[in-house]
Amino acid sequence: MTTTVKLLINGEFVESQTTEWRDIINPATQDVLARVPFATTDEVDRAVASAQAAFKTWRKTPIGARSRIFLKYQQLIREHMKELAAILTAEQGKTLADAEGDVFRGLEVVEHAAGIGNLQLGELANNVASGVDTYTLLQPLGVCAGITPFNFPAMIPLWMFPMAIATGNTFVLKPSEQDPMVTMRLCELALEAGIPPGVLNVVHGGPNVVNAICDHRDIKAVSFVGSTRVGTHVYHRASQAGKRVQCMMGAKNHAIVLPDANKEQTLNNLAGAAFGAAGQRCMAVSVAVLVGEAHDWLPDLVTKAKGLKVSAGHESGTDVGPLISCAALDRVGSLIERGVSEGATLSLDGRNPSISGYANGNFVGPTIFDGVTREMSIYKEEIFGPVLCVMHAATLDDAIELINANPNGNGVAIFTRSGAAARHFQEEIDVGQVGINVPIPVPVPIFSFTGSRASKLGDLGPYGKQVVQFYTQTKTVTERWFDENDVGTVNTTINLK
Ligand code: NAD
Repeated sequence: MTTTVKLLINGEFVESQTTEWRDIINPATQDVLARVPFATTDEVDRAVASAQAAFKTWRKTPIGARSRIFLKYQQLIREHMKELAAILTAEQGKTLADAEGDVFRGLEVVEHAAGIGNLQLGELANNVASGVDTYTLLQPLGVCAGITPFNFPAMIPLWMFPMAIATGNTFVLKPSEQDPMVTMRLCELALEAGIPPGVLNVVHGGPNVVNAICDHRDIKAVSFVGSTRVGTHVYHRASQAGKRVQCMMGAKNHAIVLPDANKEQTLNNLAGAAFGAAGQRCMAVSVAVLVGEAHDWLPDLVTKAKGLKVSAGHESGTDVGPLISCAALDRVGSLIERGVSEGATLSLDGRNPSISGYANGNFVGPTIFDGVTREMSIYKEEIFGPVLCVMHAATLDDAIELINANPNGNGVAIFTRSGAAARHFQEEIDVGQVGINVPIPVPVPIFSFTGSRASKLGDLGPYGKQVVQFYTQTKTVTERWFDENDVGTVNTTINLK
C-alpha cells in the first residue's frame, strides 16, 4: 500500500481524514512515492489552534533555550544530509549534489536562527528627557504561516519556520503538495531537536488550504514563496484579512556578458546557472545579454550546454535532472514551440532527449534560443525550464535599459574584468539582487533575500535582519522612575519634562 504523508498537529504526526489525496511522483520514473492529503478546514483550524495555544508559553521561552534548539537542529540536519538529499532527489528530481545544496542553503538559516540572541535586540536611548529612558522590544506576533513552492523543498521551508520560531512565534507550514516528503523529514528532525508540541505544525493541500490560511483570524503573518500569480493573490487576500505578508515570486533573471570578461569562466557560469536544477530556480539565469563581440561566444556556449548530462538526479555525473511534472514538461515544450513560431532561432533544441533507462521521465535538455526580442513569449514569460534566451546589446547601457524595462527584479549578473563597468552597472541596475561575476547572487543569511519590483510584494525579505522585523512587532517603552523627594509640577504640554 502507498504510504501517506502525515499532518503535524500539536506535536503529533497524524493521518488526515480528508477524502482528497494527490500522488507524489518521482519525476524521473513516474513511480508513485507516497500520497499527500489536502487537509480539511477542521484540520487547518486544529493546526492553528494548537499553534495559538503553544504561543502562550513559547513566547516567554528564554533566548538561550530557543537558541540551543537550533544549535541541536543544525547538527541533526548535518548528520542526516545524505538521507535528506536522497528523499529530495527522488521527489523533486534535482541532482544529489544540488539536493545537498538545497538542504545546505536552508541549514545556513538554521545556524543563523541559533544566533537569535544577537538578532532580536531592541534599542535604548538614555535620558530622552530628564530621568526618562526610551527602549524598544521586538515582540513575537503570534501564529505565523508559511506557504512554499516545489523547487526548493528543503531551503525555503527552512527560510521560514526557524526564524519565525526563534523570534518567539509559533508556526503553521503548508509545503508544496508536489514534493512535501523532505520537508516532513526536516520537521521530524526539528521536533527531535526540541521544538515543543504545537510550536511547529504542518498542513498539506492546495488552493483551499492556502485560502484558509489567508483568511484565518488567528494567523498574524504569512510568508509566501512561489509564482507571481499565486503570490499576488495571497498578498491581497491575506493583507485584506489584516495580516502582515511577504511574497517572493517569479522572475526573469538576466546575465550581461561584456567582451572583456574571462570567456571560459563566464560560459561555465552561464551554463551552470541556466541549466542547473533544469532551470527550476527562481534565481536561474534565463536571459543572457551578450554585449558587442561577446556575441561571437554563442557557439562555444552551445557546445558547453550540449556537453551536460541529462538523466535522473541520483545517477552519477548527471548535470540536468527532470522537470517536476508532466504538466511542467508540456508547458516548457509549448513555450519552446512558441519561441520557434514567434521567430527566435533555436540554436540548441533540448526537446525529447533520449535518456537511457528513464524513458518516462519529464526530461528536457539544455535549450538555447538566439535572436530573442522583448515582444516574444519566451522573453515575457517565466519558462522555469532549462531554456536560455540569448539577446544582443550594442553597449552596456543598452543592456541595462533592457533589464530595467523588464518588470521582474529578482536577480541579475554581469560578467566583466572592468571594475568601472561593474560599478556603473551596480549603480544603474534596478534589480534587488546583483551578482558581479557571480551568476546566482542569493545572499547568505547574515543578509536578507532582497528580490524587488514584480518579483516581490511586501517590504521585508526572508532571513537576515529583515525577517526579524517581519516576524516581530516593535513595542516602544518610555520610562521614568520618580525621585520620591521631587513632587514636580503639572505639565500641560506634550513635551516630556
Ligand atoms: P506556485 O505558485 O504554483 O505554488 C506555490 C504554493 O502556492 C504551493 O504551496 C501551492 O500549493 C500554492 N498554490 C498553487 N496554486 C494556488 C492557487 N491557485 N491558490 C492558492 N495557492 C496556490 O509555485 P511553484 O510552481 O510551486 O514554484 C515555482 C514558482 O516559484 C516560480 O515562479 C519561481 O520563480 C517561484 N519562486 C520564487 C522564489 C523567490 O524567492 N522569489 C523562490 C522559489 C520559487
